[in-house]
Amino acid sequence: MKGWWERAQAVMPGGVSSPVRSFHGVGGTPFAAVRGQGAYLYADDGRAYLDYVMSYGPLILGHAHPEVIGAVTHQAALGTSYGAPTGLETEMAELLVSAYPGLEMVRLVNSGTEATMSALRVARAATGRKRVIKFIGSYHGHHDSLLVRAGSGAATIGVPDSAGVPEEMTALTMSLPYNDREGLAAVFGNLGSEVAAVIVEPVAGNMGTVLPEPGFLEDLRRFTQAAGSLLIFDEVMTGFRVGWAGAAGYYGVRPDLVTLAKVIGAGLPVGAYGGKREYMQLVAPLGPVYQAGTLSGNPLAMAGGLAQLRAIGGPAFYPPLAEKTAALARGLEERGRRRGVAVAANSVGGMMTLFFADRAPKTFAEVEATDRGRYRKYFHGMLDQGIFLPPSAFETVFVSAAHEKEAIEHTLEAADTVFARI
Ligand SMILES: *Cc1c(COP(=O)(O)O)cnc(C)c1O
Repeated sequence: MKGWWERAQAVMPGGVSSPVRSFHGVGGTPFAAVRGQGAYLYADDGRAYLDYVMSYGPLILGHAHPEVIGAVTHQAALGTSYGAPTGLETEMAELLVSAYPGLEMVRLVNSGTEATMSALRVARAATGRKRVIKFIGSYHGHHDSLLVRAGSGAATIGVPDSAGVPEEMTALTMSLPYNDREGLAAVFGNLGSEVAAVIVEPVAGNMGTVLPEPGFLEDLRRFTQAAGSLLIFDEVMTGFRVGWAGAAGYYGVRPDLVTLAKVIGAGLPVGAYGGKREYMQLVAPLGPVYQAGTLSGNPLAMAGGLAQLRAIGGPAFYPPLAEKTAALARGLEERGRRRGVAVAANSVGGMMTLFFADRAPKTFAEVEATDRGRYRKYFHGMLDQGIFLPPSAFETVFVSAAHEKEAIEHTLEAADTVFARI
């Protein structure tokens, strides 16, 4: 009998259901997960890994948190999906509305991709405009119009990142460097009246963690408001990850629309988009923007997500998580530098990235200029020591409440021995 990885590759592209899992960015063969508990992920060969991937963000309380598992199993016994409204959806929507600044109405969907696709549709309907602006190196899911990162320098009209996406589908998407306040001013000066929306990760997490420079989010708010464009915060990663009120609360800048997923689903497939009532009333059946989903607001996802959010409890959860994450970031920087390895880390809330560079990047171009060969060695060195980091230099490290101080210390010790060798 062939090994599972050969079998997987024979019947699924790259052997995976989502590309980064294939270890394509770092080389080598991924392990098959069979169980998660707290901060640890267990492979089918019996190895345990201290997990910093955490399902790419959702598991902020760790794997298999008892409250989440209890809620999901309780709900599963009552049925998996109804095709009729449930009280759970209302409870979820009420919780999101109560937590997120300026959020008045939400629509629940099944993924972050669906959420950003739909938010864009609402923005275009609300403004009667076509153009959207995104930032290079930001990821908003894999639907056609946002699968663009495009050129450099000034705004570039979108060139698709993927085969199978015609240029016509991305021609209305403009890409600017993250943190490029001058570029933003120039685009709004020329084309402001044509811009339906700016969509931004208020902390970029899909090029590694890249922080907004002071003034960047404020400029986005100012320019969009002046031009009658909508500001969409894609908080699929940052929502309930950097703070109870998302990056909007953390940085004190309020978007018109927001997209959420990951943490709100506790590892079950879920997403949400919402904003001011005047915009969300455009969504069917109230309005002309069509958007639907057979499994949207799925009761298992609602039960699991609600249980996780209730266990988080509120804003007080976040400062200790941020402190722990920052201690990891600082500790890695110190040990790297002591070993003569150029490293710099960014961290906020429970997200962090260690870059192999002299200083922490502020744009995707700077991320691309980091030493990715060294990241590969670091990744495999850490994996050998039982620590599972993101298998790509462009992904964020996720710290959960289940990562104990001792686990962080162990990570720093392991990194020290790896830095000595790379
Ligand atoms: C993960 C992510 C998405 C896509 O969400 P999926 O659930 O994978 O479709 C969109 N935007 C951001 C910022 C993300 O981190």
